[in-house]
Amino acid sequence: PDHPGASLLDGLDPDQRAAAEVTDGPVLIIAGPGTGKTRTVTHRLAHLVAERGVDPEHCLAITFTRRAAEEMAERLTALAPEHAPRLTIATFHSLGLRMLRELHDRAGLTSSFGIADQARQLELATEAAGDEKTARRLLGARSRRRGADEGMPPELADATDRYTKALRQRDLVDFDDLIALPVELLESDAELAAAYRDRFRWISVDEYQDVDDRQYRLLRLLAPADGNLTAIGDPDQAIYRFRGADVGFFLRFREDFPSARAVQLTRNYRSSANILTASLQAISPTTLVPERELRPMGDHGDADTDAARVGVHSAANERAEASSVARTIELLLGGASFHSFDSGRITTDETHGLGFSDFAVLYRTDRQANAVMEGLTRAGLPFQKRSHDRITDRPGVRPILAELAFAPTAGAASVVASVTERLLRAADTVIERIPHAEREEAAVDIHTAVDLLKPRAEECGADMARFRDELALGVEVDTWDPRADRVSLLTLHAAKGLEFPVVFVVGCEDGLLPLRWPGAAPGEDDEEEVREERRLLFVGMTRAQRHLFLSHAAERARQGSTRPSARSPFLADVDTSVCESVGEAAARRKQRDTQLRLL
Ligand code: ATP
Ligand code: MG
Repeated sequence: PDHPGASLLDGLDPDQRAAAEVTDGPVLIIAGPGTGKTRTVTHRLAHLVAERGVDPEHCLAITFTRRAAEEMAERLTALAPEHAPRLTIATFHSLGLRMLRELHDRAGLTSSFGIADQARQLELATEAAGDEKTARRLLGARSRRRGADEGMPPELADATDRYTKALRQRDLVDFDDLIALPVELLESDAELAAAYRDRFRWISVDEYQDVDDRQYRLLRLLAPADGNLTAIGDPDQAIYRFRGADVGFFLRFREDFPSARAVQLTRNYRSSANILTASLQAISPTTLVPERELRPMGDHGDADTDAARVGVHSAANERAEASSVARTIELLLGGASFHSFDSGRITTDETHGLGFSDFAVLYRTDRQANAVMEGLTRAGLPFQKRSHDRITDRPGVRPILAELAFAPTAGAASVVASVTERLLRAADTVIERIPHAEREEAAVDIHTAVDLLKPRAEECGADMARFRDELALGVEVDTWDPRADRVSLLTLHAAKGLEFPVVFVVGCEDGLLPLRWPGAAPGEDDEEEVREERRLLFVGMTRAQRHLFLSHAAERARQGSTRPSARSPFLADVDTSVCESVGEAAARRKQRDTQLRLL
């Protein structure tokens, strides 16, 4: 605010403002995609600390991913620069880790306990269970359990015991412990829970529809029934059921927090009218919010874009599908308008001011990315794929981390040495140890690994412990940079919360959307699973601001053989008034119609 009377809430519409102005008591913000939920909680937090005098130390904002947390921190730094550094902006896991660092002695850990990565988990679990198959079952059950060991199958009890002991003997916790242990500690000590409640007096949770049982228990411990808890979410965007999330927690928020005020946001600032209509049609058969009201604000300043219909493209195969994505990107970059693509009236006289970073290609399964990458490469278009690999699984990373772990942490020299520097020194040591003959080749891996680790190391200054925690939490390599001038390739899951001017959802086929494992017959699907798949398509479609293209291939290679593929049944719910067929199939149809007329 740069003039008297201005407020940090000025950038919000009346409904958003009403939601943000509530400072006391539980609030439920239930609203569809693109209605400014994330924007509202961010401004609310800035308003609380900068204009209402709330101590930032008392504020906790929980986001779904590290990326989202970083983004929120960035925005808050811009909105409330003096207060932002003292706010706690965390994911559930980083919050749990922070609590465990404070409570380590109660959990039988030293202050420098480590976090076991997947490989280490499997190794210890296999030792405890006797064989790898049981070990995998044990780990699976462990990540679905409620409390520390509550809810484990009885036949795995002994092995679980041995596994936990092995972790603790090595001063380790696993990823699941990060939330399960704080829950257990707070549940068994009312005073401790009260101390945390006193500390985090204002809590907000974005994407509340994807909270799981353990996270829910932690929240209930942190927020009293009349506490200042703001839950933000959209039940129709619940897409993590397979990982234990339960949209039921969102739906019963007002029973858990009876004094909660519910606020609806109904203006969509993201998508064009046609995109919004098509998305709502796609979700309508199984929507969890049947009374939903959502209208487009049409703030695109471009009448032509508003009129652009959702393109539905049928390709012969994956390769053709990818080529058509590439061609469409080229056309749009060249200023083509898709106003009436089908009728052949492609106008090229206007530019949309689009760059590569304005395009995103979304898919259901990670392996679909290969065909898309090939297509973009053939067309010479730059892209970046959001990776889901664990950083510690990348070649070269492990030896460096091992070397870092052994490097002395005490002593004058290492105290002042930054993590940046120590990383380089460790890399050099690792390279020196490689036999001469292999050195050149292996050094490439090591240098790539250093490049991956460097940005994190730079953020950590001289704080080695923080660097290790960051790595342990940053499960994914995630070199995806929202600002890079490249086309983005992401899974539908990873696209949650994001937005792009132009979105392609590829592989809109029965078997991919909804996803069906090879071997399973159509019709055998679990109903609830199919609903979640539909929500996934909804999430994907609603990422689009100006242009949305849905494509499917007539045949697709899966599991080594090429099989015919049918259009996703979800597309049948999208009305032809908001979508149009584009591409080869449409052209063929037109040709056929013409031939018929000639006959
Ligand atoms: P999702 O459900 O996908 O997470 P969301 O409800 O969190 O969506 P945001 O990402 O906060 O929505 O906002 C969507 C877009 O609309 C953003 O580009 C945001 O800046 C813009 N926006 C939100 N509110 C307003 C507003 N009052 N005026 C102008 N633009 C707005
Ligand atoms: Mg959001």
